[in-house]
Amino acid sequence: METLTTVAALRERVRAWQTEGLRVGFVPTMGFLHAGHGSLMALARPRCDRLVVSIFVNPLQFGPNEDLSRYPRDLAGDERLCAAEGVDVVFAPTDFYPPDRATTVAVAGLTEGLCGAARPGHFDGVTTVVARLFGVVQPQLAVFGEKDFQQLAVIRRMTTDLGLPVEIVGGPLIRDPDGLAMSSRNTYLSADERSRALSLSAALRAVVNAATAGERDVDTLRAAGRAALQVDRLDYFEIVDPGTLAPLATLDRPARVLVAGWIGRTRLIDNMAVPWI
Ligand code: AMP
Repeated sequence: METLTTVAALRERVRAWQTEGLRVGFVPTMGFLHAGHGSLMALARPRCDRLVVSIFVNPLQFGPNEDLSRYPRDLAGDERLCAAEGVDVVFAPTDFYPPDRATTVAVAGLTEGLCGAARPGHFDGVTTVVARLFGVVQPQLAVFGEKDFQQLAVIRRMTTDLGLPVEIVGGPLIRDPDGLAMSSRNTYLSADERSRALSLSAALRAVVNAATAGERDVDTLRAAGRAALQVDRLDYFEIVDPGTLAPLATLDRPARVLVAGWIGRTRLIDNMAVPWI
């Protein structure tokens, strides 16, 4: 495994692979990697000949008052995890954007609700970085986690709309044994905050359990979930169509329940599939 830190070096490596006809797989990340990221690498590994993981804390997807400057970093630890997952190249660029970059990629519709409403401009930052990463890495396959369920839908839309020759694969959300969705941001949590953070997955499970027991009214389902939450501030708690992300009034199809909330200064997100029986 090698770590490449410039766009030029990565391009040169990719060009060599292309002349050999090798299939390139790609997992984009912001680093401070955990087993959730590792699971995406494990999904990609058997589906490609060469596997690239990018580690880039993308300033474009952070709002002015968000945690860009304190976002956790640990390149040495990230390299160990990547090596263990059989990654060929860690791409940790120091020169990612052209200094005179003038292009923004924006997906309409899917980005308007949920995290898009709570974090204005966030998804433009995500689609702009992923479009450029796809241009530089030129993967045939890219894996994204269902942890960021709306992001996965937005990336699929962008890839289809721009006709990009990349197969998008979604990987399941990985949790700690106590149910907390793994996240690089969990490192911000104190012991007390971490125990309150468990209320996010507990609230989602309450919805899933009520739906499994036959409840169909979405207001009732949401109330069952929200009663379990111990967040300091709630951004949203919604039950949506998993394709369009439009809120449902009645559970009349398989759905997704998604939550975003603040525990102290830390914003956490989580989601689960809601069965329709
Ligand atoms: P991040 O480094 O947080 O930007 O995430 C990079 C990729 O890893 C995204 O596709 C995330 O959805 C995915 N990811 C992050 N946490 C998890 C998790 N707990 N389970 C599965 N995928 C995850």
